[in-house]
Amino acid sequence: MKKTTVSDALFERAQKLFPGGVNSPVRAFAAVGGTPVFLARGQGARVWDADGNSYLDFLGSWGPLILGHAHPEVVAAIEAAAREGTSFGASTEREILLGEAIRAAVPSMERMRFVSSGTEATMSAVRLARGYTGRVGIVKIEGGYHGHADTLLAAAGSGVATLGLPSCRGVTAGAVADTIVVPFNDEAAMQAAFADNHVAAVIIEPIPANMGLVSPRPGYLKALRQMCDAYCSLLIFDEVISGFRVSRGGAQELFGVRPDLTCLGKVVGGGLPLGVFGGQSQIMSAVAPEGPVYQAGTLSGNPLAMAAGLAVLRKLDQAAFHRLEALGQRLEAGIKDALAASGVAAQFHRVGSAFTLFFSAEPVTDFASAKRADAGRYARFFHEMLDRGIYLPPSQLETGFISLAHTESDIDAFVAASRQALSTIS
Ligand code: PMP
Repeated sequence: MKKTTVSDALFERAQKLFPGGVNSPVRAFAAVGGTPVFLARGQGARVWDADGNSYLDFLGSWGPLILGHAHPEVVAAIEAAAREGTSFGASTEREILLGEAIRAAVPSMERMRFVSSGTEATMSAVRLARGYTGRVGIVKIEGGYHGHADTLLAAAGSGVATLGLPSCRGVTAGAVADTIVVPFNDEAAMQAAFADNHVAAVIIEPIPANMGLVSPRPGYLKALRQMCDAYCSLLIFDEVISGFRVSRGGAQELFGVRPDLTCLGKVVGGGLPLGVFGGQSQIMSAVAPEGPVYQAGTLSGNPLAMAAGLAVLRKLDQAAFHRLEALGQRLEAGIKDALAASGVAAQFHRVGSAFTLFFSAEPVTDFASAKRADAGRYARFFHEMLDRGIYLPPSQLETGFISLAHTESDIDAFVAASRQALSTIS
């Protein structure tokens, strides 16, 4: 039994300060039970908790840490930027450097704006889509998560799904009155959503990662592009997770579908608070001060976040993505062997370095099938893995991540732990 007395004591104190003892719901381990471990330090692929236990980290701060923890070049870039001033509220060259790097990698983002979180990016993109088109309807995917802006908190994934909340109190009926929710991978339902011709935009994670990781059916994203074109509605790709994760150009590069607007976060901020939304130059002209759609932020384009993002993007070349794919393949092969040996019914989903192990006998293709996966079994698996020093997402409906700091032997350690964990829970 690992010692957790310091984490337990910290959680006691935290609960007196923060709802649920946390500053973001899923951190509370509500879906898997038990007391969350308090992390004290991270280096490369490893984290250490407040009691000194160490874990191989396959959560990566929920996606940002594609280079692993405290990468020396990222730390050095942040230090250098901090020495020159942490915030100005004025324009700096670093914003242009990161903006140019993003546009080179994601050409559909002809112009963009920096914000401080993924939530701000999607919230602003939705406002822009409405302001630009003059329409109000927003179509989102059931189980899709785009942060916690009111409009997008209908049938949301991630923590909302994990906590089993049917809807979010405090969000007025008016705020979601024009939000149309359709199942993923269902072209007919999407087509029907366009019926009354008031759709400003479809917002979608092209590879949903907040109902666990689910892939689009062949042709699905292309069909969405065609429908949006036919109805003069905008297509917004929320690539907060998939951007700079599944390939340098994101899911839009992988599937060859060009959205009108793209939202980024996580990897692009190198572990610092950063989001971006951007797209067609003409649409971006509607953003203030060029246009009538207001959007602003005291810390937007923050120098430390710019520096961290630039340092990470510099490392993400073709070789990096080949390496991540090779590590992903190794994990997939190992887990599939372990599953076969254990007889446990499960679906292992993977796109590059992102993965989810669904404890489900049936294919998982949308939110309904994701929710039918055995969350109780996942909870047992999670704790068996944690006890063996492997840190995973604390919910069945989330996504795990491999980083460039992981080695083959780290992957093999994951697989070995899984073999034992699966035999215990089978
Ligand atoms: N979009 C997606 C696809 C996300 O996964 C998340 C966060 N997990 C967000 C938006 C919101 O980002 P943030 O938590 O930085 O506000």
